[in-house]
Amino acid sequence: HAKRTGKGRYEVFRPEMQEAFEKTVNLATDLRLALERDEFVVYYQPICTLADGAPVGLEALVRWQHPARGMVAPMEFIPTAEETELIVPIGHRVLREACRSTAAWNRRRALAGLPELTVHVNLSTRQLRGDTPQMVAEVLGETGLAPSSLVLEITESHQAFDLAQVCDQLQCLKGLGVGLAIDDFGTGYSSLLALREFPIDTIKIDKAFVDNLDGCSDRSDLTRAIVQLGRTVRRDVVAEGVESESQRQALLDCGCRLGQGYLFAKPLDHAAATALVLPAPAQVDATPARADR
Ligand code: C2E
Ligand code: MG
Ligand code: MG
Ligand code: MG
Repeated sequence: HAKRTGKGRYEVFRPEMQEAFEKTVNLATDLRLALERDEFVVYYQPICTLADGAPVGLEALVRWQHPARGMVAPMEFIPTAEETELIVPIGHRVLREACRSTAAWNRRRALAGLPELTVHVNLSTRQLRGDTPQMVAEVLGETGLAPSSLVLEITESHQAFDLAQVCDQLQCLKGLGVGLAIDDFGTGYSSLLALREFPIDTIKIDKAFVDNLDGCSDRSDLTRAIVQLGRTVRRDVVAEGVESESQRQALLDCGCRLGQGYLFAKPLDHAAATALVLPAPAQVDATPARADR
């Protein structure tokens, strides 16, 4: 058979397409069930100062705790979630959970005299809709997280999006007092356009450009130029996927201050993240009661 693909063109409908279609439908059904059963969990990866590895923030990264398949990575279900708009309720859960956890961590950090952490939450352009700013405002109110402690990382959706509409939503979000970051900078076809059009505070340099720091000099020059660009337009720059000491040093040398990657920590579950961001319990708690008490 053939189906219309617009502009009067016809495409032959092949068996592989039927298979792909069925796969998407099945996955969408599973994702709806997963929402009902509350199977999405949030992991946290620290964002650190490159100079000394101190955490200044965390990125919330969703995983699907599947009863049979185990922990499923986002790349296996986010594209379908975007296609089916299930990314909207999934994203809502992730945002609420991330804000709730970070508000609690920040309260305990304040008591210990530690600076507040920011939490970065991924939003694909597909998730930006008319009611998104209000949803974010509600989550902030409900969890008590300071707006300045939230950064939304904007990623290009696998789907097409309307630039003017996205700009509009981002301006509204900015008005709430939250920070905005461009994710995977340098890989999207519209990275520079996004930098020009969107009210962005932070650039996250994609791992591909951090990997280049180990290769030939032409490629590492390009990475240095991106860091320079970020500094010139006065945006914070975070390097993604920092895995080695030599990458950390090269980034510091070209003026990049913040990084995230396996060199510092992998994404951690809630308990491990708590242990990382809160001070170790005072030593006295762990020692047996002293004779004079
Ligand atoms: P991202 O936002 O660019 O997140 C960074 C990804 O790089 C994460 O993969 C992280 O685990 C991985 N990573 C960090 N450091 C290193 C490193 O040193 N080496 C290597 N090889 N990888 C590193 P993850 O968790 O699999 O997430 C993949 C993507 O899925 C994210 O890329 C983001 O685009 C998307 N995603 C994750 N959670 C959400 C969410 O809640 N909502 C939406 N819309 N997208 C999400
Ligand atoms: Mg991200
Ligand atoms: Mg990224
Ligand atoms: Mg990515």
